[in-house]
Amino acid sequence: MKYPDVQHYIGGRFEPGGPRFLDVHNPADGTAISRVPLGDAAVVNRAVARAQAAFADWSETPVKERVQVFFRYKALLATHLKDLGRLITEEHGKVPGEAEAEILKAIELTEFACSMPQLIAGEVMEVSRGVECRVVRFPLGVVAAINPFNFPSMVPHWTIPNAIALGNTFVMKPSELVPLSAGRIAELLHDAGLPDGVFNVVQGDGEVAKALCDHPSVAAVSFVGSTKVAKEVYRRATGALKRALCLGGAKNHVIVMPDADPEMTSSGVLAAMAGCTGQRCMAASVMVAVSATDHIVKRLAEQARSLTVGRDIGPVITAAAKERIERYITEAEAAGAEVLVDGRGAKVPGHPGGWYVGPTVIDHVRPETRLAQEEVFGPVLAIVRTHDLEEALGVENASPYGNAASIFTESGGAARLAMERAHAGMVGVNVGVPVPREPFGFGGWNDSRFGSGDITGRSSIEFWTKTKKITTKWNREAGTNWMSR
Ligand code: NAD
Repeated sequence: MKYPDVQHYIGGRFEPGGPRFLDVHNPADGTAISRVPLGDAAVVNRAVARAQAAFADWSETPVKERVQVFFRYKALLATHLKDLGRLITEEHGKVPGEAEAEILKAIELTEFACSMPQLIAGEVMEVSRGVECRVVRFPLGVVAAINPFNFPSMVPHWTIPNAIALGNTFVMKPSELVPLSAGRIAELLHDAGLPDGVFNVVQGDGEVAKALCDHPSVAAVSFVGSTKVAKEVYRRATGALKRALCLGGAKNHVIVMPDADPEMTSSGVLAAMAGCTGQRCMAASVMVAVSATDHIVKRLAEQARSLTVGRDIGPVITAAAKERIERYITEAEAAGAEVLVDGRGAKVPGHPGGWYVGPTVIDHVRPETRLAQEEVFGPVLAIVRTHDLEEALGVENASPYGNAASIFTESGGAARLAMERAHAGMVGVNVGVPVPREPFGFGGWNDSRFGSGDITGRSSIEFWTKTKKITTKWNREAGTNWMSR
């Protein structure tokens, strides 16, 4: 389907952009379905000004009233599950089940924000006779979120409901590769009763992101994307003395022990590596197979061959991504690794222009090679063989990233050791994609996250607010102490 040119959304109105545009493609057939305008500092200035103007009223609206918008919004997401999912499939390529899962997760994230009154009910204590201290939370002001291509709806919902329910006003920059879902989010927030100016969207590329980092009236910046850009954005935003939380790329290891349940392991690892076509920061990318695990590798390879490209697994985002992923496979093969399942040159009938890479399983990959070390962001599993769990943990620990790690085993002792020793912010036991469900926060370690705290869950409340500590005394007879007289 063709869509009109994408627009910015500022102060409750869609407005056309230009003069620079990029084509937006459907990766399933490579056709252009729309054009996205590339905004600049002037558009950012307008959006921030509208967000600033909306801040006074919104921040003074009691939190119990603010969350009513999100109760209605959550219901709208559920009503529109199918059409929102279809739009994600068109602009991103992921298969319908995966696209709808994004909306289900967006609903869960919105539910968390609906509990904000309960979560932020204050702390108060009589610290000496008649003297009370209490802590009150305040929103920061205008805040910004810069998003990646791989989850056009879920990642935006990591920040929108919490930041706005906490009283901030918001400017979002979607990825220029998947700009369409943002417009629907804006429409549904408007339909749910969000006042104009509280949520704004500026479309564009890195130039918009930089302008948001530099703008003196933006109080905080959240970023999700590759490590290279996460570092740049973190340096730029904190250099401008803002709060920043920047989530980066990943290289997630799954350790498979010889005692692991073969079916649970092979299907778990396959789903973790091929799900979302491997284009997720929680994808299993290296399987560290410990000693006698040939039976599991064999089973995994058979299951990978049985997946149907185009039905079970969508395309990758661009022609360049397809080329890059296939190059990793070719290079690993040339270095002596054994390609058990080869997804290069995958074709889907009726979609000759689609950017498909099939599930790929490569055995005997050496840990020092690029395939074992770099983020591939495609449906490619590198199998590294080790003799024991110590050696396997050494492979995992050597990665500069630290998003997720998992172990498949029937042994409590091995699981315990992996939980303790993995260098990752999210760890799974017999779970290939250990994404924490709400209310548990999402966030990695090391090169997968710059800034402190998680982007969702309770710690996001710390990120999106500042506290005021208030001490009161109302009568002369109130106690005094060594601290205050
Ligand atoms: P990307 O870093 O290329 O782009 C992310 C965003 O940054 C986009 O909006 C883009 O327009 C903007 N951008 C690009 N160059 C910029 C620059 N120089 N300065 C400022 N902004 C700039 O990432 P991507 O390809 O869209 O997304 C995939 C990456 O995101 C992968 O590395 C993946 O692991 C990562 N990711 C991480 C998480 C996590 O939670 N850690 C979640 C999702 C995706």
